[in-house]
Amino acid sequence: MTAARQTVIGLGLAALISGAWVAAHVWGVFFHPWSPVGLALAVPLIALQTWLGAGMFIVAHDAMHGSLAPGRPRVNRVVGQVAVGLYAAFPFGLLNARHHEHHRSPGSAGDPDFHAERPTSFWPWYARFFRRYFGWRQLACILLVFAVYALCWGLRR
Ligand SMILES: [Zn+2]
Repeated sequence: MTAARQTVIGLGLAALISGAWVAAHVWGVFFHPWSPVGLALAVPLIALQTWLGAGMFIVAHDAMHGSLAPGRPRVNRVVGQVAVGLYAAFPFGLLNARHHEHHRSPGSAGDPDFHAERPTSFWPWYARFFRRYFGWRQLACILLVFAVYALCWGLRR
């Protein structure tokens, strides 16, 4: 496969996944009905949103490795930032640097995604992972987006 063909396929899939994630998000936030049927359909909608969120991370992962658009580092950075930025305002540069640390020493004390002192305990690992990647910037961005949503919900009444 040529690099140009891989770029077209990668960017096409990234647009499809990101577009579906945005559509499901906007639907869920602004248009999903608050009714018994709507509440029952919320479960598959959340499952869909979660699945698409995993897809956003796969897009960002491919961008980190430069395989989303081979030979085009700027395109990889921009698309990767959009993917992780939409998800939770994560900075692509930090995730990219840490992800390459992970690949240099997987499953060891030098792996930022691994809890070497408690390698078989989920919650300590999750707390460390969360503290390592989620900071005040992400919290501020999410609160700002929530404030905008609340304003929009108020205007719709
Ligand atoms: Zn990787």
